[in-house]
Amino acid sequence: MSEMTTEKHVFQAEIQQLLDLVVHSLYTDKDIFLRELISNASDSMEKVRHLEGTAKNFKDAGDELTISLEMDKEAKTITLTDRGIGMTREELVENLGTIAHSGTKAFLEQMKESGGSPAGLIGQFGVGFYSVFMVADKVEVFSRSWQEGAENLRWTSDGKTGYEIEEAEELPRGVKIVLHLNEQSEDFSEEYRVKGLIARYSNFVGFPILVAGKRVNEVEALWLKNKSEISEEEYKAFYQFAGKAFDEPCYRLHFSADAPIAINALIFAPGENPEKMGFGKVDGGVALYCKKVLIDAEPKGLLPDWLRFVKGVVDSADLPLNISRETMQDSALVRKLNGVISKRIIKMFEKEAEADPAKYREFYKKFERYFKEGIATDYANKDALAKLLRFESSMTGAGDVCSLVDYVGRMKDGQETIYYLVGQNRDQIESGPFVEGFKARGLEVIYFTDAVDEYVVDSLGEFDGRKLASIRHAGVELADVDAEADGLSPEEISGLCDYLQGELGDRVTKISSGKRLVDSPVIALVPENGMSPQVRQMMKAMDENFKDEVKVELEINPRHPLVKKLAEVREKQPEVAKLVAAQLLDNALISAGLLDDARGTIMRMNSLMEKAMG
Ligand code: ADP
Repeated sequence: MSEMTTEKHVFQAEIQQLLDLVVHSLYTDKDIFLRELISNASDSMEKVRHLEGTAKNFKDAGDELTISLEMDKEAKTITLTDRGIGMTREELVENLGTIAHSGTKAFLEQMKESGGSPAGLIGQFGVGFYSVFMVADKVEVFSRSWQEGAENLRWTSDGKTGYEIEEAEELPRGVKIVLHLNEQSEDFSEEYRVKGLIARYSNFVGFPILVAGKRVNEVEALWLKNKSEISEEEYKAFYQFAGKAFDEPCYRLHFSADAPIAINALIFAPGENPEKMGFGKVDGGVALYCKKVLIDAEPKGLLPDWLRFVKGVVDSADLPLNISRETMQDSALVRKLNGVISKRIIKMFEKEAEADPAKYREFYKKFERYFKEGIATDYANKDALAKLLRFESSMTGAGDVCSLVDYVGRMKDGQETIYYLVGQNRDQIESGPFVEGFKARGLEVIYFTDAVDEYVVDSLGEFDGRKLASIRHAGVELADVDAEADGLSPEEISGLCDYLQGELGDRVTKISSGKRLVDSPVIALVPENGMSPQVRQMMKAMDENFKDEVKVELEINPRHPLVKKLAEVREKQPEVAKLVAAQLLDNALISAGLLDDARGTIMRMNSLMEKAMG
């Protein structure tokens, strides 16, 4: 090899940064380097399989595709050879010298945000090829691309500042990586160490892995096997391998179908929610295969976006191998798969929830936001998803939950509406005036307490043919109760309402006597299309200039002593009555979470107290 062909390159700044992190802070996880190399080799050979089926100019089809590992204890090296597509000179520069791929970028960003503490991060991302520098102080990559007339190349680096590329002697297609192990990592040149790592991380790689010429992995498409032949341990290992996960799977769906489309699917719901652990939105985790050949590890459109948390494999013999990533989303077949699989997954959650409610509860706490996102965004599945919701209600004990199906089962004869209230928590909801009238009539009220619930219920609209209605809204009709007897007369009521309307002016659009109150004197209701306190809060948080004249309907309780007294004194003691009327409105607004400015309230309270003491 002549000097002429040696090119020196400097690593991109981000790569140097990454390498520095890899070498100095990640050494506790250094085991993973082999998984990363094997998975790159396997990806590359998947591409060969794909080319065999699609590229006319692919020369050496039918080769045995294996990954082989040789260790040299004397030289302290590991050599990993694959029969993948290899890399051209440009690809070596692009792939092993710059940071173009999103996974590594995301890793760096998370690294910065977490203040450089890598615990747990490595499991989320892996640092790919660069992890070799945790165990090696010199790495050689020999490569010949599958493309016609490709060069034989040798890439070398110490993982510090840069790398060199030069021509090499005649090579077979693929990549051969030689790791010169550093002093702390010499034990990796022992066969048992390498075999241990393969068993742990790479058992399900879809190609034979040979260590010193002997096959060590299982090479099985677990999803095509019969359920009865698979142990729990195998399932778990497959989940961790396929999902690049470290937790235990919580639920599993393994099924095959022939109509309307051929499907073999093995899908897991994870035990932990990475988005809740501070990582951004995760990418879809279900890979798409056609007869054991990987078509796309992150296929767009295979599942609705809200299902991005599930992991596993879908294999469909009906798919054309050469379907491109671009056409994937528009493919009628992929749409069909999406429909069938998402329905099966939802059904699986429904069954699991029934079989073990306590387990589902724990799962739900971590993953409910995905279901809610689905209700708001996935029209085809929203009704099925609504069955998965869990919440407290006026008929559950504090801390217990039920479902919409439970609610409907408990509805009273003649009840047509599902009542709910959105609030911060059970205590806050129950201390307000809204629920009392419903409780008195034995009508159940759902307590929604998640910030997004308002939006979710709006999207849902109805369940099982029954409208969902917020009891905060005007226009919710309640049947009579006997308590009418000792209230004000119709004439007294209409006189009082007119009086209040005169006093309160246009802050109140309507005043009437209502049936929903038991213990409270008045209640403020927002119109059915009006903004709820939660939405107002959000608007205020987003826009500091947000102004919204609160207009409410007032419902008075003609049985309440305070209301009766006001009707009695409004002519005899007009000054006090005026203060009481205004204060009643403020109190109702406070209960409804709608009072923005309490200055007037306090001044009025002071005058009232003065008057009370004479
Ligand atoms: P990632 O695998 O997450 O993309 P890596 O740093 O591991 O990141 O690899 C970068 C890129 O280098 C890969 O995307 C691939 O294009 C290329 N590459 C790595 N190893 C091989 C290999 N054995 N054969 C062919 N290409 C490879």
